[in-house]
Amino acid sequence: MDLGIERAVRAAALDYLSEVVDENGVASWQAMKSFVIGEERVNLVGSGNGIFKPRQLSMPISILTAAPRSGSDPPYDDAVSVDDYLLYRYRGNDPDFHENVGLRKLWTTGLPLIHFHGVDRGRYVPSAAVIVHDDPGALTFSAGLVPLEAAGPTFDAGSLDATQRSYQLRSVRVRVHQQSFRERVLKAYRGSCALCRLNHLELLDAAHIIPDGRGGMPIVPNGLALCKIHHAAYDANILGIRPDLVAEVRADVMAESDGPMLAYGIQALDKTKIWTPQSAAAAPDRDALDERYEEFKAAS
Ligand SMILES: [Zn+2]
Repeated sequence: MDLGIERAVRAAALDYLSEVVDENGVASWQAMKSFVIGEERVNLVGSGNGIFKPRQLSMPISILTAAPRSGSDPPYDDAVSVDDYLLYRYRGNDPDFHENVGLRKLWTTGLPLIHFHGVDRGRYVPSAAVIVHDDPGALTFSAGLVPLEAAGPTFDAGSLDATQRSYQLRSVRVRVHQQSFRERVLKAYRGSCALCRLNHLELLDAAHIIPDGRGGMPIVPNGLALCKIHHAAYDANILGIRPDLVAEVRADVMAESDGPMLAYGIQALDKTKIWTPQSAAAAPDRDALDERYEEFKAAS
């Protein structure tokens, strides 16, 4: 086993992935599935397999956590240990299955690999990972996770102290949750603002109906695709959305007189029907809308 090659390919892979993720840290399957080093194309993932080893290496280069199946499911989580490691389940129940053996070998070298966390079909948040513990009794490996941009190509998780480690793991998890919610909500709304139909992804947000700070779940029925202006207006109770999917503009804002943004961007939406997904599973939750609309009325 040539550790020099193992190390070089992993460093190049981390470097490659940090180039192909979008501004939210998400990579498409197409972009992340392989990369070229020298004259060689190296695969980074198998066909949906959890633990993957490319033919050029002797140990796995990636582990993968699948995206939730449906938009109304909460994002799937690998468990996290009390000391802030990702707990990654063995493939199957046999500790001696070759893929589990591969990860165990990697653990003894301290070399990094990539963790791909699915946020939607064909969309993943990659992060740098290092296996730090093997628990055959529980059929799990523990891994430290670090966001790609914090890891750099010479990533050495062994050098992280406990505070840094829990901070880095939290950063990865926050990103996974936010991007999972964003990707699924924007897809359900076909990339358009529910209020004005603006369809530029870079100007759209996935808004929570019930904010996450108040227990609102990161699931599509608690989401609305809104452009930046309408997201801010909704959060500020300038705009409300009734449970029957009709938008209302606060009375004092309706009485204002100002330029075209106010007239066409806000006031014109008063008493208009919002646009929502056809499928009942993705449509906004009426109870959540009702609760939020009561708050809007109280602010009026
Ligand atoms: Zn809008």
